[in-house]
Amino acid sequence: MTTISTNLQAVRARIAAAAEMAGRPPESIGLLAVSKTFPAEQVREAAGAGQLAFGENYVQEGLAKIAALEGLGLEWHFIGPLQSNKTRLVAEHFTWVHGVERLKIAERLSGARGAGRPPLQVCVQVNVSGEASKSGVSPGDTATLAQAVATLPNLRLRGLMAIPEPTDDMALARRRFSTLRQLRDTLNEAGLALDTLSMGMSHDLEAAILEGATLVRVGTAIFGERART
Ligand SMILES: *Cc1c(COP(=O)(O)O)cnc(C)c1O
Repeated sequence: MTTISTNLQAVRARIAAAAEMAGRPPESIGLLAVSKTFPAEQVREAAGAGQLAFGENYVQEGLAKIAALEGLGLEWHFIGPLQSNKTRLVAEHFTWVHGVERLKIAERLSGARGAGRPPLQVCVQVNVSGEASKSGVSPGDTATLAQAVATLPNLRLRGLMAIPEPTDDMALARRRFSTLRQLRDTLNEAGLALDTLSMGMSHDLEAAILEGATLVRVGTAIFGERART
């Protein structure tokens, strides 16, 4: 067994244990393997261990891996900050975009995706910690942005995404994730049909799952420490 396949098993076991604690079926939680900074060969290894969904933060790096691993049936998620001059490449080559925080970016993604393909799956990113340095729309502005994104023709708004501040305080982590879940619930009561809460990473996936995460994004616990971030 390789390190990556051992790590994947351990992460799947953590997800299953947290799901049990939350009284949720483990299959209700998807695992996105965050492969940023790691070479295509390590993604191939993870794919060999049954992992098919991968997250990338940097456009050029992601495109190189997508090209190198074509034909393996992998699903690519763009999870990094997205500048408007990169929207076309992302809309053409990725299946999901997690970090939509401005309507202008969403409009460009929709235009670049075009009508001939399945819609691009997107999440609106919310700044649940209220830190000025963090990406994401404020909780108070989330509904307006989400409603506007939901009307765009070539996007399918799937849910919300957040990256709370790192903390060892489980109660604080749960509060942040709970904020995202409540926003999702409110939007669904207002008529949207959001099925995705993209939240939880290597250090806090348990807290996220206890608060309803449907997709955890895990890098370090699968691939190891990154040389740069
Ligand atoms: C890097 C990254 C992750 C993975 O973080 P780990 O702590 O390595 O698990 C998840 N989500 C986003 C948006 C990231 O940029």
